[in-house]
Amino acid sequence: MIKRNEQGILIVVSGPSGCGKSTVNKMLINSRKNIIMSVSDTTRAKRNGEINGVDYNYITKEEFEKNIESDKYLEYAKVHSNKYYGTPSDFVNKKLKEGIDVILEIDLEGARKVNEKRNDAVFIFIMPPSMEILKSRLINRKTETKEQVIERFKTAYKEINEVSKYNYVIVNDKIEDSVKRMSSIIDAEKSRVDRIEDIYLGNEEELIHEILMDI
Ligand code: 5GP
Repeated sequence: MIKRNEQGILIVVSGPSGCGKSTVNKMLINSRKNIIMSVSDTTRAKRNGEINGVDYNYITKEEFEKNIESDKYLEYAKVHSNKYYGTPSDFVNKKLKEGIDVILEIDLEGARKVNEKRNDAVFIFIMPPSMEILKSRLINRKTETKEQVIERFKTAYKEINEVSKYNYVIVNDKIEDSVKRMSSIIDAEKSRVDRIEDIYLGNEEELIHEILMDI
């Protein structure tokens, strides 16, 4: 009798650089149906191995600012080294309407903005197992300069203090366990009463009439 809400769920994932959130998210979308990552616009330079349109849409500062003016973003923020990052609204809304769950891998400021606009979003924070492990992950991935590693490490300290603003926290010790945990969170969210209640109540009279018609 309960008709499920057919809309996808908006899942916001944050965590300090080096906590492994990208790996967890990539494995998650390969292991579940009907779920995708939103592709953000950014003004930062493309890194080796990254693909335009897949990892990010790489655009100029001018283009980004024009998009801000025309209200194209669900949220945007200036993250590391003063570069813009933003989530295009149209893409996200279209996918959610199609019943596809959408993951936003965004920073804390962006998450705060999404929280103001969408009270149906789920907020997940990925935590490194320890600051020592975070340090070695940042150094070993060799994508940042020493100065950038120091900046990201300092930011990580501040970010971890914000964990209580999220709905769920996952300590990313073993990737496979984190992926399972995140998948369980999404399943649990899909069974939340406040996601189905409206539809159930909305159809109640109609259902009673239909079922009791022949008595
Ligand atoms: P990176 O440059 O390492 O790819 O990403 C740096 C940070 O930007 C990460 O913390 C990532 O979560 C965040 N980020 C990526 N896309 C967006 C976005 O669309 N909006 C916001 N607010 N942050 C983003």
